[in-house]
Amino acid sequence: MQLTNLKVAAEQVSFLQAVRQGLGQQQGLFFPTQWPKLDIDRLLAMPLVERSSEILQALIGDELSASEVTQMVRQAFTFPAPLAAVADDLACLELFHGPTLAFKDFGGRFMAQALAKAQSGKETTIVTATSGDTGAAVAHAFYRQAGVRVVILFPKGKISPLQEKLFTTLGDNITTLAVDGDFDQCQALVKQVFDDKALVQQLGINSANSINISRLFAQVCYYFEAMAQVPAEKRQQVVIAVPSGNFGNLTAGLIAKALGLPIKRMVAATNSNDTVPRYWRSGDWQPKTTVATLSNAMDVAAPNNWPRVEALLAQGVISRDDIEAVMVDEDDTVLGVRQLSQLGYLSEPHAAVAFKALKRSIQADEFGIFLGTAHPAKFKEQVENILGTPLALPEALARCAAEQSLCRDIAADFSALKQALLSLEPS
Ligand SMILES: *Cc1c(COP(=O)(O)O)cnc(C)c1O
Repeated sequence: MQLTNLKVAAEQVSFLQAVRQGLGQQQGLFFPTQWPKLDIDRLLAMPLVERSSEILQALIGDELSASEVTQMVRQAFTFPAPLAAVADDLACLELFHGPTLAFKDFGGRFMAQALAKAQSGKETTIVTATSGDTGAAVAHAFYRQAGVRVVILFPKGKISPLQEKLFTTLGDNITTLAVDGDFDQCQALVKQVFDDKALVQQLGINSANSINISRLFAQVCYYFEAMAQVPAEKRQQVVIAVPSGNFGNLTAGLIAKALGLPIKRMVAATNSNDTVPRYWRSGDWQPKTTVATLSNAMDVAAPNNWPRVEALLAQGVISRDDIEAVMVDEDDTVLGVRQLSQLGYLSEPHAAVAFKALKRSIQADEFGIFLGTAHPAKFKEQVENILGTPLALPEALARCAAEQSLCRDIAADFSALKQALLSLEPS
């Protein structure tokens, strides 16, 4: 399958090239211009790993063999995505049963597999900055992978202790640097690394960033897994609400629809960072300054996957009516967590945003699904504050919370970072 740079149409690359490069010229996103047609009923009858292998094989094309793709999926999708019933015709697709308890494990782990293929055994150093969930997913995905070293920068003292412990306690080929600065400074340092072409060449540096096409393709698979768990007679009535920040997750759902999955409508749910809902109403793209909310993984004012949504619309494989865009404010988010609790379902702010948006959109006879993007325990403090009851940590989180952090402190200074990179042990 050829992928096209959405900004420079003349730049066409294969799947593995796109995985290797991340972004194209002029920071353009890579995206397919054509979509395979799939036998949906046959796929929905299959188990997760087998079905996902077929979907990814169709999306990737013949650059990788069927057995290679199956092997990658087997390594990446080692945990389930159950559809938990919340009420009649209302369910949560739980995407948080992976090693770092957030949906980013699906994309991160498949990207790790794809990068290993794209680098074909060459030594690679992944350098990435994180404000929380992505770093943990990337670290776990590459943990002990031969030939790969991972260096994660994070703003010292500015992410929750629990989030920090999820990736700083691994060690081995995972190096974690606590930067004396904020997240923007971490990102600026990573940019400086990529500008140092000699260093990039010497260490085989790659970014594994969030716009990598391999992550989106992997995420398409759990929309099929959701539909497979809906009773057959309800499958034409399914509306799915996605708590959105950079809009990768929503894009993956729209790709699933373009592939023929009968999703009736997608609800793009945002918090107060509502660039997309405003744009959907007015036609004006006017990002404002980012505001901090309870659903902090969605605090994004300029979602970087949006050009891919526009591309799907321009290709005519989805239509404007397939998307509803809804903003949910802080009070409503709190209300959502409480209402779900009253329904007997323990949730957290991100899923609650999707739940409230879904409630506003859903009509009689429709079957509503909202995506549970993180385990409630990952947002322990917010959930405890909202519900007024203590929350137990799941076993895996409790274990790593008790471990020693192995991160090193570093000044927000490029020469210090360069020195740290050059002194890494060979993997
Ligand atoms: C990253 C994240 C989101 C937003 O997903 P996008 O694909 O960026 O829209 C939502 N919820 C949680 C918990 C996340 O970590």
